[in-house]
Amino acid sequence: MTEIRKLRNYINGQWVASKTAKYEDVYNPATSEIICQVPISTKEDLAEATQVASTAFEKWKNIAVPRRARILFTFQQLLLQHKEELARLITLENGKNLSEARGEVQRGIENVEFAAGAPTLMMGDSLASIATDVEVANYRYPIGVVGGITPFNFPMMVPCWMFPMAIACGNTFILKPSERTPLLTERLVELFSEAGLPAGVFNVVYGAHDIVNGILEHPEIKAISFVGSKPVGEYVYKTGSDHLKRVQALTGAKNHSIVLKDADLDDTVTNIVSAAFGSAGERCMACAVVTVEESIADDFIAKLKEKSEAIKIGNGLDDGVFLGPVIREENQKRTIDYIEKGLAEGATLVSDGRQSIPETGYFVGPTIFDGVTTEMTIWRDEIFAPVLSIIRVKDLKEAVETANKSEFANGACLFTNNAAAIRYFRETIDAGMLGINLGVPAPMAFFPFSGWKSSFYGTLHANGKDSVDFYTRKKVVTARYPKATI
Ligand code: NAD
Repeated sequence: MTEIRKLRNYINGQWVASKTAKYEDVYNPATSEIICQVPISTKEDLAEATQVASTAFEKWKNIAVPRRARILFTFQQLLLQHKEELARLITLENGKNLSEARGEVQRGIENVEFAAGAPTLMMGDSLASIATDVEVANYRYPIGVVGGITPFNFPMMVPCWMFPMAIACGNTFILKPSERTPLLTERLVELFSEAGLPAGVFNVVYGAHDIVNGILEHPEIKAISFVGSKPVGEYVYKTGSDHLKRVQALTGAKNHSIVLKDADLDDTVTNIVSAAFGSAGERCMACAVVTVEESIADDFIAKLKEKSEAIKIGNGLDDGVFLGPVIREENQKRTIDYIEKGLAEGATLVSDGRQSIPETGYFVGPTIFDGVTTEMTIWRDEIFAPVLSIIRVKDLKEAVETANKSEFANGACLFTNNAAAIRYFRETIDAGMLGINLGVPAPMAFFPFSGWKSSFYGTLHANGKDSVDFYTRKKVVTARYPKATI
């Protein structure tokens, strides 16, 4: 029997074994095979990484911004060269299909491209004359060591929301990736190091709660970027704030799509199938609920059912597969529990994802419920699986009121050709990322990832100019130039 590889932490430019005796198996969710083991590192491992990152900061912060940016340009080139390898790793450890994995790699690369603009993005402001002979200017500086805590569903893109910009701004970084998808991170640090990043600037400590708590408490870690579920994000935000740190916590979602009677139904159905069942519904921008105008509901649901049931399920590395597995057996069981709960609460099952699923791996087929109400658990909870709820409404006003009852407010979409309806939707919906006639309106790197309500805790979002503000602090210099004889 071949020995299963044990991952090591990356500290000071070296792969080092964790001090822990505890390792967790990492599975290929499409086959249930163990692909490696991840250390559940200790607070001592974190303390070592923090010490290293703190020392590295003293040098890195003084490297001229264009020189830092040049390393990011080289990193971007290396990522492009290794695009296919990275995509295959994502499919292996996460299960999403290869085409989605390629898309994820591309989105991550865009974050690196954005961060390479640091010389422009870090510019300050100035006013030549604020009083007689007095001028004011502000300058941006890095904050210190930044900690990043990431989820399983985007092993490349989500870490890339954090470390490229933090490092470009002159900070050093400690990443704690999800223990369920730790593999891709190895290649990210190796390629960044190959691009010329000095040792100690980017460190990785694998693990779970202990490392998260360590990041929250360690006085040398000045800011925390978190992406994950709502309960953990709330805990991270409260505890990090208690320790007087900057925290941004991007959390759960229950995204609604509204379909009006004038929408192009075929196009809408294509978009919604992809948004609800792509990446097995494990996207914070997945479509979880459709509110559809009653007059077209039967037609819409018939088309949706037909298209969903034609989806090919299987290993995301195989040709033509659209729907891969959910991440773990417990997620599969949890999803099946939700399907049973939906039935018990009185919703009607239009497509049953419990049927005809592969025997090995953690699969759930596309599942559609009609007749859902806002009193039901399947409407309220984030299921994070290929389960779609449909609510029939009389008009746009009722659709918006329904969506706004959710505690979450990440994304929302509207399908219509009516300009007045689009404006009404934009002005009244409680969500931070809106899509018009498209399914997954995840903003690109240049714009903030701007969830509202329980989908985000903090002030400054990930990405866009918000991220530059989050990873820098300012000095404002007010200077008097006394009159001299010139
Ligand atoms: P998760 O909350 O279980 O894990 C996220 C991170 O927190 C992981 O690194 C994990 O090790 C750590 N963690 C988990 N439980 C913890 C605990 N009790 N104490 C301390 N740390 C803990 O999330 P997940 O299942 O990996 O990812 C799915 C969730 O992430 C979904 O809710 C999804 O909506 C959300 N998500 C949100 C966004 C967004 O932009 N809003 C993006 C991607 C994913």
